[in-house]
Amino acid sequence: MKLQVCLVLAVLMIPGVSHSQTQAPPNPEPDARYKVDILEVVGHPDDDIEVTAYVAKLIEQQHKRVAVLYTTRGNSGGNAAGSEQANALADIREMEARHSLASYGITNAWFLHGSDTPGADVLHSLELWGHGQALEEVVRLVRITRPEVILTWMPNYVVGENHEDHQGAGVLATEAFDLAANPLAFPEQLEAPRDRLTISNYGEGLRPWQPKKIYYFSDSIHFDFFKGNGPEYSTSDMSPGRKMPYSRVAAEAWGFYKTQNDFTDAQLKEFSEMPVRFIFGKSLVGGNATSDIFEGITSNPIPYARPRGYEPPAPGLVLELGGPWAFYNTFWPAHGIEHLAKLYAPEAQAAPGEALWVPLIIRNDTDSPKQVTLHGTLPAGWSEKPDAMTYTVAAHDAYAVQLTVSSSAAQKGTWQTLTWTAESAGQTIPPVSLRVDVVSNGLPQ
Ligand SMILES: [Zn+2]
Repeated sequence: MKLQVCLVLAVLMIPGVSHSQTQAPPNPEPDARYKVDILEVVGHPDDDIEVTAYVAKLIEQQHKRVAVLYTTRGNSGGNAAGSEQANALADIREMEARHSLASYGITNAWFLHGSDTPGADVLHSLELWGHGQALEEVVRLVRITRPEVILTWMPNYVVGENHEDHQGAGVLATEAFDLAANPLAFPEQLEAPRDRLTISNYGEGLRPWQPKKIYYFSDSIHFDFFKGNGPEYSTSDMSPGRKMPYSRVAAEAWGFYKTQNDFTDAQLKEFSEMPVRFIFGKSLVGGNATSDIFEGITSNPIPYARPRGYEPPAPGLVLELGGPWAFYNTFWPAHGIEHLAKLYAPEAQAAPGEALWVPLIIRNDTDSPKQVTLHGTLPAGWSEKPDAMTYTVAAHDAYAVQLTVSSSAAQKGTWQTLTWTAESAGQTIPPVSLRVDVVSNGLPQ
């Protein structure tokens, strides 16, 4: 009898075997219905068509899960289907997107409330959308959807459609890639519920999430420039279920966007049969730029990867393009995607004989004020206002020079190079150049 009591006491004292401890309930999981392999972050209903042929194949043949996040509901632009405009058009475009996505297996689409803003300056979209709130929403949706891969528009100023809302979507997606696993980014989203089954919980109960890869795509006219800078997928592969090539799946998905369907069948065929070409952004799981998008990706979560972040310029006097170009020059290295700068030289488009705004910045990162003389070298027949001028730039300050350049109508259809040189106290400052496509029908630049 005594021996039995001693044995029972001994068992009770062994850690992990004690009968006085009970197993805690399982940790409440994130809602698995919204977990995706790919999150597309785009500006407008119909932008998703850029990658439909690739994504439709992944969904059908590899059962990948895909969601789309639109930063606007497409409340601007012409309506080829009816008289509706503005907010009414946005309601219709949201429904067109849902029907289009459902045609190839995407049921989760999220819409932010940025305004569809025609133009080419990304800072304009970010201002109108409320950059902070829009980013908060994108970070929230990355934490909800927990994507392995983000596909988005290239954050760069480029001739082509180059819509500022496209660039804005790419900027927000890149920022959210680097923030969603950072617990200091919108920490209220991460507060665990005190009791998830009752009221009076604060915060949102999300978990941090680090996506593994980000890739970009572009509607630039330089489709060839991007070849070899990321994986590329043929659109001629056959869909076993539909008995048609994925290019046709994409064309049929496009057919749901009737408000924007002002293409001929021939144009649509050409567009949908082009390969889906990506530009590598970054990978936290190895591989190289042209590796398959899912190479190196497993279902295991990965830890937060700290981005480089902002680094101040080295001391000195610098002349650079301002506006969106200056933003991107700082943005790319901060997010570890500085290779985007090497894809092509800075460029813009100007209607023949019309004006183009060219912002320049004279940056004085020295301890004393500087006098800087600026001089433009323009193609024949072009002019600028103001012309050569001397600027006083305070210590550790930047002078934002606003130039208006008028192109020559005679050069319609050509590319021209504009160069600005500067000097201070006899010292030459490295020049800057801008290539300009003299072409009509561009967005406001
Ligand atoms: Zn668009």
